[in-house]
Amino acid sequence: MKVLKFGGTSVGSALRIKEVAKLITDGERKIVVLSAMSGTTNTLVEISDYLYKKNPEGANEIINRLETKYRQHIDELYATPEYKQKGLELIKSHFDYIRSYTKDLFTLFEEKVVLAQGELISTAMMNYYLQECGVKSVLLPALEYMRTDKNAEPDPVYIKEKLQVQLELHPNADIYITQGFICRNAYGEVDNLQRGGSDYTASLIGAAVNASEIQIWTDIDGMHNNDPRIVDKTSPVRHLHFEEAAELAYFGAKILHPTCIQPAKYANIPVRLLNTMDPTAPGTLISNDTEKGKIKAVAAKDNITAIKIKSSRMLLAHGFLRKVFEIFESYQTSIDMICTSEVGVSVSIDNTKHLNEILDDLKKYGTVTVDKDMCIICVVGDLEWENVGFEAKALDAMRDIPVRMISFGGSNYNISFLIRECDKKQALQSLSDALFNE
Ligand code: ASP
Ligand code: MG
Repeated sequence: MKVLKFGGTSVGSALRIKEVAKLITDGERKIVVLSAMSGTTNTLVEISDYLYKKNPEGANEIINRLETKYRQHIDELYATPEYKQKGLELIKSHFDYIRSYTKDLFTLFEEKVVLAQGELISTAMMNYYLQECGVKSVLLPALEYMRTDKNAEPDPVYIKEKLQVQLELHPNADIYITQGFICRNAYGEVDNLQRGGSDYTASLIGAAVNASEIQIWTDIDGMHNNDPRIVDKTSPVRHLHFEEAAELAYFGAKILHPTCIQPAKYANIPVRLLNTMDPTAPGTLISNDTEKGKIKAVAAKDNITAIKIKSSRMLLAHGFLRKVFEIFESYQTSIDMICTSEVGVSVSIDNTKHLNEILDDLKKYGTVTVDKDMCIICVVGDLEWENVGFEAKALDAMRDIPVRMISFGGSNYNISFLIRECDKKQALQSLSDALFNE
């Protein structure tokens, strides 16, 4: 069985929902994971912000506006009075429920419930639409099987077992529709897999049912070899290794959430990125295979801060790096890049919430300098060290750009440069010209 996930823009209007319905009704049994309609989760966050600030009038205004929009979607989506009525009742019940949260104390717990409504609505709308079209479609309630443990990590054993139970309740269904993003936590409370988490849902389900393929449908033809918003002449990469895709997803490619990679990789289930607007385009296949001898893509991550600790104490000493890393760990700040010399170490971070405390602690061990507004440029491909020429090519493209750090050899798949954010466009273009458009 395949698992297909459609993002917010793919189900962003009645028309788009109808297009997705066409795509998924090809006679094959499948599980379909949906995001909330585009913009909905952001609006629910906005509503929650008003409620945190104890402003129910502000919240109600946005709730009413969103409800009106949904009533229009219902009117456009269904053809028969019966389903128009069902749709309107659905919308009313969810919005009345959201409104019930404007009256009492509003905490993180209530926010999670409010945020869950987007996916609950979009999936119910799709399910009704398919049923109106005569398709044997059922809803698999994610809150019954998707669960995180006490460390807020998905619990694969629980998910597999409970999902199986849900599937067995409907042995004759052709299409199973389910919610991305939402789950329950270890205490049974409504929770979620973090923003953009629907890709993660699809991958967890794929692993749980040992799917033949996980498809992530968005509105672009696969993962591109560079950022199409910044660089001219980018093109889709047709085949990526999971590790390459993970680097790209983490370092800037918006098309896939980085958490989606791991469950699929370990279960060895290929992930295909496809385009709802152009369903026959080949997209990108991500698997445990790789195309050898090729640089595949470039991505960039902004808002990076570089920190250098220079210390003569590091010379010939052991345990220095541990002390440095412990400081970052104690402030729950993860490090992206590291470069060391005999007398100093540079690291890059993207979360600067505890920067001042970190710097104060680091000063005990040496002279500390900070460079802000930096950006990581990540070049991804078959970069095994025995292959010659690829590093030189990437470095040559960076010839005119001041480079603060270079990291190579951490994996077989990437080389990263830390540069100033203001040089990003030039760096990306120059890498594209040198690596892909010769
Ligand atoms: N609707 C959620 C969000 O906007 C999850 C997702 O779309 O992946 O973050
Ligand atoms: Mg997404």
